[in-house]
Amino acid sequence: PREANLSFLEDLDEEQRRAVVESEGRCIVIAGPGSGKTRVITYKIAYLLANGVDPSRILLVTFTRAAAREMVERAKAVTGRELSEMLAGTFHHVCNHFLRKYAPYVGLERNYSILDREDAESLMRHARSKYLERKSKEERKNFPQPSVLMAIYSYMKNTLKSLRESIVVKNPKFLDLKEEISEIFDLYEQEKRSQNVVDYEDLLFYAYRLFEENKEIRDREAERFLWILVDEFQDTNYVQYKIVEHLSSKHGNILAVGDDAQSIYSFRGARYENVEDFIRVPGTKIFKIQTNYRSTESIVKFINAMLPRKSVPKELKPVKKDGMKPVVVKTWDRYEEARFVSQRILELIEEGFKPEEIAVLYRSHSHSLELQMELVRSRIDFRVLSGPRFTESAHVKDVLSFLRIVQNPRDKSAWLRAAKLFYGIGDRTASKIADLASAYVEEGLDPFQELKKVSFSGEYSRFIDILDQIRKLDSPGEMIERVLSSFYSEYLEARYPDFREREMDLERLVEIASRYTSLESFLTDLAVTENVEIEREISQKEGKVTLTTVHQAKGLEWRVVFVISVNPGDFPNYFAISEGNLDEEERIFYVAITRAKEQLYISYQVTGTSYPYRGNRFIMRSGENFIDRIPLELVEFWEVK
Ligand code: ATP
Ligand code: MG
Repeated sequence: PREANLSFLEDLDEEQRRAVVESEGRCIVIAGPGSGKTRVITYKIAYLLANGVDPSRILLVTFTRAAAREMVERAKAVTGRELSEMLAGTFHHVCNHFLRKYAPYVGLERNYSILDREDAESLMRHARSKYLERKSKEERKNFPQPSVLMAIYSYMKNTLKSLRESIVVKNPKFLDLKEEISEIFDLYEQEKRSQNVVDYEDLLFYAYRLFEENKEIRDREAERFLWILVDEFQDTNYVQYKIVEHLSSKHGNILAVGDDAQSIYSFRGARYENVEDFIRVPGTKIFKIQTNYRSTESIVKFINAMLPRKSVPKELKPVKKDGMKPVVVKTWDRYEEARFVSQRILELIEEGFKPEEIAVLYRSHSHSLELQMELVRSRIDFRVLSGPRFTESAHVKDVLSFLRIVQNPRDKSAWLRAAKLFYGIGDRTASKIADLASAYVEEGLDPFQELKKVSFSGEYSRFIDILDQIRKLDSPGEMIERVLSSFYSEYLEARYPDFREREMDLERLVEIASRYTSLESFLTDLAVTENVEIEREISQKEGKVTLTTVHQAKGLEWRVVFVISVNPGDFPNYFAISEGNLDEEERIFYVAITRAKEQLYISYQVTGTSYPYRGNRFIMRSGENFIDRIPLELVEFWEVK
C-alpha cells in the first residue's frame, strides 16, 4: 500500500518534507548550511520511485564522485531498490555518458580518451614549445608558462567567454600576447584532435555544443529525463548551467539544491549568479529550509547576523538550544594568536573534547605556519587537509634552495633546484655545477669565488652572481628578500597563474625568517616542522586536530572551530580589498563560521606586516575588517594577555 511506501517521509521535518513532496517543475531549495540539503535530494529520489518513476528517468548531478556515490547509497537504503539505471555522478561523468553516445556529432571518435589535468598540461606545454620554436630567444623568455595557459584556457571553456576576457581575468599582463596565445590554443586543439583525446573542459564543452547545435538529440535526451536533481548548485559554472537547462527542456522538472551564500568557487568559473538566473525564470518555485541541525542557538544567531550582504535573505532556526556564544579573540600578532589557539586546544582536550572534533580554519595555507610550529611545540597532534603544505610547495622550496646552498654548498639537490630556475640551464649543466661546487669545497676553496671563474651556457653567470650577493648578507630574512628582488618575483609572475598568492606565501616566509639571526637554525626549524607534519599526514585523523583552508572545509562540521587570521589583508585577502571585490570573501567567511557545532573562536591580530611586503616594516593593521561587522551582543570578546 502507498501509505507504507511513504513512511520514510517521517525522517524529515515539515519544510524538508514540503521540498520533497511539493517540488514539481522548476524548483530550487535555498537552504542554509547544515539544514539537510543532501537529505532532501536523497528523499526526493525515494519519493519519485515510490510514485512509480523509473530510476532511468532520473538524472542526479553532484560535484564529487564520492558525494554522488554516497547519495545513491542513501537513496538505495531508503527505497530498498537497485538504482543502477539512474544516471548519477559528476558533471564530467554525465557529459562523458552523452559524448560516448554521440561522439561523431561533435567530430569525435567514440573511443576518445580523456586527459587528466597533468596530461593536458603537458600537451599544452608541447603545443607551446612547438609554437615558440619559430620565435627568437627574447620573445620566448617571458612567455606565459603552460600552467598559466591552462588556467586561461580552462576559464575560457568553462565560462564561454572570449579569449580576450579570459586573459583579462587571469592576468591582463599577457593581453599583448593574445594572438600568440590564440595560435597556441589552436595547436593544442589540433593536437588533441589528431590524438583523439579530450580534456575535462572538452567533456563539458562538447556536451554543451551537442545539445546546443543538435535539436534532435537534445529533444531525445530531454525526453528521457523526467527529473533532474542538482546538488551544490551555487558552484556550477555557465556551461554546466546551460547543460541542465537543455536536459530539462522537455519536462521542466529540476530540483536544484544550493546555498547562494556558500558559493566560493568563482575562480574556477563558478557563478553564483546562476542561482539568481534560475530564480528569475517565471514559475520557479523556491523552497526555504530554515532549520539548522548543526549548530547551537548562539552560533546560529551569529551565522544569521553574518549572512553575506549580497545573498538571498534567509534566517536559520536552531534546533540545538543555547550553547556558548562565539568568541572573538584579539591578539597582538601571529605568534600570540598561535599560542592562544594551542593553549585553548589543550584546555579543550583537558575538558574531554577529542582532537578530531576540533578544527582550525584559515583563508590561506600560509597563515598556518606559526600555528603548525606552535602545535608541534605543544605536542598537539594535527593533520593538514590536502593541498600542498606550505614548506612543500614549489615556490617555497625554490627560494629555500638558495639558502641551503649558502648554508651547505655541497647540497646537490639544492643546486639542481636553484640552477634550473635560470634560463638556459638544464639538468646536465645544473648537475655539473653542483659537482664542481662540491669539488671546490673538498679542495678547501671558496666555491662561490671559483664558480665565478668558469662559464656555462644560459644565465649561468647571473645565477652565480645572485648567489654571491646572497651569501654576503647577514640574516635569512634579508637573503630571501634578495632572492625575490633579484629575479624570483618576476619568474613567478611568468610561470604561475596564482603568482600573487605565492608571492604572499614568500612574504610570509620573510616574516618568519626575520625572527632568526642564524641561517642554520632557521633552516633546521623549518625542516623539522615539515618532517613532523609529513608523519602526521600519512597517519589517521583520529586523535588529530584538523587544519584546513575554508575551501576544503566545505560541507564538513566539527564540535569546535577556530577561524584564525581574520585580519584585513589575510581574511579578507589583500587583493580582494584592493580590488574592492569583497563579496566572495564574505561568502568564504560565512562558510567558515557555519562549520561549528558547539564552539566557535574567531581570532585576529592587531599588528602584522604590510602587504605587499615592504621590507621588514611593522604596521598596525587597517582596512576592510570582518570583525567590525560583528554585532557586539552576539559574541564574547577575549583579549589575550
Ligand atoms: P552543508 O551546507 O554544510 O553542506 P547540508 O545542508 O548539506 O549542509 P546535510 O549534510 O544534509 O546538510 O545535513 C547536516 C546535518 O544535519 C547532518 O548531520 C544530518 O544528519 C542532519 N539533519 C538534517 N536533517 C535532519 C532532520 N530532519 N533531523 C535530524 N537531523 C537532520
Ligand atoms: Mg551538503
